[in-house]
Amino acid sequence: MAERAAYAAQAEHSRGRRCAEPPPAGRTEFQRDRDRIIHSTAFRRLEYKTQVFVNHEGDLFRTRLTHSLEVAQIGRAIARSLGLDQDLVEAIALAHDLGHTPFGHTGQDALNACMQDHGGFEHNLQSLRVVDKLEERYAEFDGLNLTFETREGILKHCSLPNAKLLGEIGERFLNKQQPTLEAQVADLADAIAYNNHDVDDGLRSGLIELDQLSHVAVFARHLDEVKQRYPQLAGRRVIHETVRRMINTLITDLVAQSTKNIQHAHPHTLDEVRAAPPLIGFSDSIHTEQRELKHFLRTQLYQHYRVNRMSGKARRIIKALFEAFMDDPKLLPPQYQDKVRQDQARTIADYIAGMTDRYAMKEYRRLFSVEEL
Ligand code: MG
Repeated sequence: MAERAAYAAQAEHSRGRRCAEPPPAGRTEFQRDRDRIIHSTAFRRLEYKTQVFVNHEGDLFRTRLTHSLEVAQIGRAIARSLGLDQDLVEAIALAHDLGHTPFGHTGQDALNACMQDHGGFEHNLQSLRVVDKLEERYAEFDGLNLTFETREGILKHCSLPNAKLLGEIGERFLNKQQPTLEAQVADLADAIAYNNHDVDDGLRSGLIELDQLSHVAVFARHLDEVKQRYPQLAGRRVIHETVRRMINTLITDLVAQSTKNIQHAHPHTLDEVRAAPPLIGFSDSIHTEQRELKHFLRTQLYQHYRVNRMSGKARRIIKALFEAFMDDPKLLPPQYQDKVRQDQARTIADYIAGMTDRYAMKEYRRLFSVEEL
């Protein structure tokens, strides 16, 4: 295990919380962030939100909760090898999807379309909004009052107009600076996790076949290795042995290439990390392979007609909910009534974004079905 590097984020030198608090006892500032995220309502809801498959389609598919745990695990392993702060990576990983709407990417696109005339909807920005404003748990502040470093890691992307509205947390997008290496690790751990578990879930669902995947270089290479080593192996173990090798290759490559990048840029402090180009990254050959895999998943899985059918339903549900509440805000539950008078569209977007897949479907039935109350 590497020693903590000089360019790692340091909890004791955090840029702090928006609302000053006494230092935590028995844990670091980043560990406190992680603990607060785990105890939040939005975190528990991740169990019933999905990325590709809708929650009720089967108990074996990843949810946003298991996805976030996988991102945290992969992120910690990378951080450990690079001498970075594992707790910060974990906090960012566990929080990175808190702002996601029901029904995965389709839900987010649909809500963004509904919000076009009201400032739009970006899921990264919404994750930040959840931890800064929407969680209601503490007496002295809204949200979770997380450290600057965790918050900047959560805000992976942000449009320039929104960055201008965000104060210090938006500055790096305007100054073209990088976040901490821990944030960069969490971002790539996210990609490693979803590319691989979507392969696994895609095969499990039967939407993609092993035959098709054998034409994708990164999968074929690792599948051959498994077949050579275990000629008798069949069924799910073949897939699992292949996927775990792919994850391992990616982590190993990421650590090796990032170490080279760091050695080359030679940052001594976090400020030098911020001013450098992104230092966490894959080698060129792995990057190319990953692009091929992503393209495969996009065309064969994410746009599979059965996924498209579900996406179509999801889009209609989100749109119908949004329009019904905009039309008559009195349909909203009582705890939203004060807020909706101050900012109607954003309050409705917050309500819808907070829904789980099944809650959104139930709310749709409650609003539009005469049999249901
Ligand atoms: Mg993610």
